[in-house]
Amino acid sequence: MPTIITHALVGITVAQVAPQRSRRSALLFAALFVAVAPDLDVVAFNLGIPYSHPWGHRGMAHSIFAGIVLATAMACIPQLYKPKPGWRDRAGVFAVLATAAVSHGMLDALTNGGKGIGLLLPFSAERFFFPTQPIQVSAIGLYSFLHSDFNSVLLSEAMWVWLPLLGLTLIHQAIRLAAKKHGSRSE
Ligand SMILES: [Zn+2]
Repeated sequence: MPTIITHALVGITVAQVAPQRSRRSALLFAALFVAVAPDLDVVAFNLGIPYSHPWGHRGMAHSIFAGIVLATAMACIPQLYKPKPGWRDRAGVFAVLATAAVSHGMLDALTNGGKGIGLLLPFSAERFFFPTQPIQVSAIGLYSFLHSDFNSVLLSEAMWVWLPLLGLTLIHQAIRLAAKKHGSRSE
């Protein structure tokens, strides 16, 4: 898996496109949570569930299906919205959360270690990796991580994830500024 920092950054970046009648900071935390939540399945190791089992690490909790279910449940939380949200706001919040949640398995499928990701569970037990896996896999657990070559892990995540996220953020800010300027000129 990439580190929790990288999954969290993806969630935060996705939340930038928060719909108008959502509470931006609440949505930001919700997106961050759903982006990191799939790795809670490491508890499967403690429960004696094998890695390759559908309920094992990188299995069901990392699937697209689980991401959509989690996003649907989270999008029902009223605190994510300002009063009187419309269907567009609700759909927008769902889209942000679903993208953040599903991004986790997709990112893991770009890593170069561990077992593949059960992206299509519960419909197919096959474990997937993308054809290119440029991201250096991170060790599971803080102890193992600190005793691994974490510099090269973070460097690989910075290059393949953090920089593209920074690029997206800058583009998004530029578009917002341009739209604001255009709006104030046409008033
Ligand atoms: Zn993961």
